[in-house]
Amino acid sequence: MSPAQLRSVLFANLAIGLSLVATADTGDKPWMNTALDADRRADLVIAQMTLEEKQTLVFGYFGTDAPWKKYTIAPEALEGSAGYVPGIPRLGIPPQWIADAGIGVATQGGAKQKRERTSLPSGMATAATWDPELARRAGAMIGSEARSTGFNVMLAGGVNLVREPRNGRNFEYGGEDPLLAGVIVGAQIAGIESNHIVSTIKHFALNDQETDRNTVNVVMDKAQARMSDLLAFQIAMEHADPGSVMCSYNKVWGDHACESAFLLNDVLRRDWGWRGYVMSDWGATHSTAKAASSGLDQQSGYPFDDKPYFGELMLAAVKSGEVKEAKLNEMVHRIVRTLFAKGVIDHPVKAGPIDFAAHAQVTRAGAEQGAVLLKNAGNILPLKDQKRIAVIGGYADKGVLAGGGSSLVYPIGGNAVPGLKPTSWPGPIMYHPSSPLRAIQALAPQAKVEFASGEDRKAAAALAANSDVVLVFATQWNGESFDSPLTLENNQDALIDAVAGANPNTVVILESGGALFMPWLDKVKGVLHAWYPGSSGGEAIANLLFGRENPSGRLPISFPKDDGQFARKLLEEKDAQGVKVAVYKEGATVGYKWFDAHQQEPLFPFGFGLSYTTFSYPEFQARLDGEDLVVKVRVANTGARDGRDVPQVYVAPVAGGWEAPKRLAGWRKVELKKGASSEVEIRVDPRLLATFSEKDNAWRIAPGKYRVILATSSAAGDAKGEIAVELRERSLPVDWRPAAAH
Ligand code: BGC
Repeated sequence: MSPAQLRSVLFANLAIGLSLVATADTGDKPWMNTALDADRRADLVIAQMTLEEKQTLVFGYFGTDAPWKKYTIAPEALEGSAGYVPGIPRLGIPPQWIADAGIGVATQGGAKQKRERTSLPSGMATAATWDPELARRAGAMIGSEARSTGFNVMLAGGVNLVREPRNGRNFEYGGEDPLLAGVIVGAQIAGIESNHIVSTIKHFALNDQETDRNTVNVVMDKAQARMSDLLAFQIAMEHADPGSVMCSYNKVWGDHACESAFLLNDVLRRDWGWRGYVMSDWGATHSTAKAASSGLDQQSGYPFDDKPYFGELMLAAVKSGEVKEAKLNEMVHRIVRTLFAKGVIDHPVKAGPIDFAAHAQVTRAGAEQGAVLLKNAGNILPLKDQKRIAVIGGYADKGVLAGGGSSLVYPIGGNAVPGLKPTSWPGPIMYHPSSPLRAIQALAPQAKVEFASGEDRKAAAALAANSDVVLVFATQWNGESFDSPLTLENNQDALIDAVAGANPNTVVILESGGALFMPWLDKVKGVLHAWYPGSSGGEAIANLLFGRENPSGRLPISFPKDDGQFARKLLEEKDAQGVKVAVYKEGATVGYKWFDAHQQEPLFPFGFGLSYTTFSYPEFQARLDGEDLVVKVRVANTGARDGRDVPQVYVAPVAGGWEAPKRLAGWRKVELKKGASSEVEIRVDPRLLATFSEKDNAWRIAPGKYRVILATSSAAGDAKGEIAVELRERSLPVDWRPAAAH
């Protein structure tokens, strides 16, 4: 008898034994006994599975018809969804009904019927809130919509580091800093999984551009990867323990990411101790035996791949011995264990009513707290009692823009601006029917509010000249599968120029996936960046413009002045053999770290954002508690309005030796009534004081003096205090993790 067979017999006997002691209602299914741990339950049920049943669980289908592949979905799949994995009814294993994505329950463009659901603001906007609790609530809300729609797996959240400002999917991610991105995305995933469903963190890893995304080989120093892109995942996973990880389309160090034993076996499992299952991105599986031995557990979205690698080919490989059944058992164990651990099996999903009105409040709060006030000369905002208000451009009469691709949530009420090209993948270009114009009008009943589309620049300038204040909306559509320049399209720069020339009391409201160039910045008085603000974005923008809400968003990315400030110039490069490569020479020197290291001044720094009130920091202390660096800050609201502040702590080694002069080491979002103050304590994650040593597979803190800087952004001029501390040499094993989440 082989060890595997012996194991199955033992498990079967154990199962029979346990069924005698299990509570009556688990009947002949002892694995349904919730008193047992998830590993035991998985072992018990797997012992009952046939080879074909095991294989069923590792092979996922697309959830939407794909006529170009002559593929039609199974009747049990939820039409229009991302995926479907059949269950094993006789054993009580439900199907996995899989929905995109990070901002709500998405529908595939090819779906016959679109599911209308609540859309959060973009991932970038949520990161701009710097508020993990708000991100958790947002996640809990979209997870509940997924559950009430019948989905038990959600393909959220995206935590690829924003190292390439042109990346078309930046809007799905959590910004350029590993700590901020990890904490916010982790909080959102924890919220989603609080609904007893699985959330799939993605796209693992180094999938930081869309150009050549299926073929590009990404190469960078591995230790630098541990301190940047991988650290963002690691932190998010510590905060959330997501049930699943999605490996990405690109290659890493010469291997497909879904065949990277380094990423999937060594980093995820050996080093981080993570116990969930790895699913491929849709079309990112390239083999059977190699993928399985490298750590992939589930092929997704067939027929996006050219072959059913984990379908018939897996069965054949197990039968021929090319893949050992024990290996398949291990893969199935990770999947089934996760379904037990996350409550998917004990709390079956069921379609039910959704409280859209309550959810509109959740998404609106995110849009309000994520929008960043970048400029407010002469306190032009909040709007006061202007009699004539011009609203120009950006389809602001109709709605607010969303990002394109698989994450697109179809809005309740349909597309506010239908027909814009592309109308199919990665389109349609979608405007949520939350009209800023309508919301502005509602908040200014005494004013004459007039709209000009901006197509006719002269007419727009004439309206501007005749108004007390001008609100110009500029939109930039970004999306999956393409990268974009940072220059506004369709002559919108010229429109802003013309309008600001006609009336200096001009405020620009931006809706885009990420950073934009602003050649007109000196000519306008105000700039509010609303990102893609989601289902209630129009109301949120109006509330901010009129001071019903006080802006509190802070940039989760740096805004470059022009493309001369990009770390990499070209998105398409080939190595000597003609292979497409992306060489991240900048290593972990990403975003503000790159600007600092090259003594460049960005257009707007990471962490920056204005408020309608003012804050001061009457107390600031840094001390060592044992080996931990602990910072205390008292924040006081010294202005005339209630508001929220985001004091940030950066650390810089006096002797240098890091990838950059300083790193973000912590922050708090603090809500304060006018005149109030409060003290916050920040315990610094020691990995943020360390560098990773590939040789030792460990983090090392160099002994010496470090500057602890309290600041309101990463810009040197925004520092509010500085304390020197002396750190002792310290080594942290690769599997080190904080005792408690953020
Ligand atoms: C995207 C994933 C998405 C999947 C399923 C892929 O194109 O990269 O983010 O979850 O499709 O729709």
